Amino acid sequence: MQFDLRKFIATGRQPYHAEFQCDLSAHDYAGARIPQPVTAVFEAETDGDEVRMTLRANASVHGECARCLDPVIREETVDTEWTVKERDLDDPDFDLPLDEKGHLDVDEWLNQEFMFQIPTVLLCSADCAGLCPVCGKKKAECTCQPAEHAEAPVDTRLAILKSLLN
Ligand SMILES: [Zn+2]
Ligand SMILES: [Zn+2]
Repeated sequence: MQFDLRKFIATGRQPYHAEFQCDLSAHDYAGARIPQPVTAVFEAETDGDEVRMTLRANASVHGECARCLDPVIREETVDTEWTVKERDLDDPDFDLPLDEKGHLDVDEWLNQEFMFQIPTVLLCSADCAGLCPVCGKKKAECTCQPAEHAEAPVDTRLAILKSLLN
């Protein structure tokens, strides 16, 4: 969705409200995806001097656990607010995706918000033990005995330490 922010700052008197569908499936969020279209709510209102914009959306994020590689699906919410003055539109460091005509790319803004929101490391659970380096199964399912995989006869002094660890 495009929003003519420059025009709204100049002439917008009534609050603006839009509910729209946004397809973010082409974007990659550190390996995670948002495969389903997202329903977002965008609102703008002005007091004659500055414009207050809000953007809200929920998305079902699909990724995989960084430790055990199981699929992970989690809900992420974007709920952000931004206040803009007319002079911001000509600021080269303005953070929102705006073209030279002053049109705001709301889809791209939403994409950027999900970039911030979605963790770069997803886990199936906070205490996921990951995979066994020997058999490749999940540690919770693997039956490997740590001692079976010792490559060389263990030095007796180390064996004492090892038995303490076990
Ligand atoms: Zn996991
Ligand atoms: Zn194992």
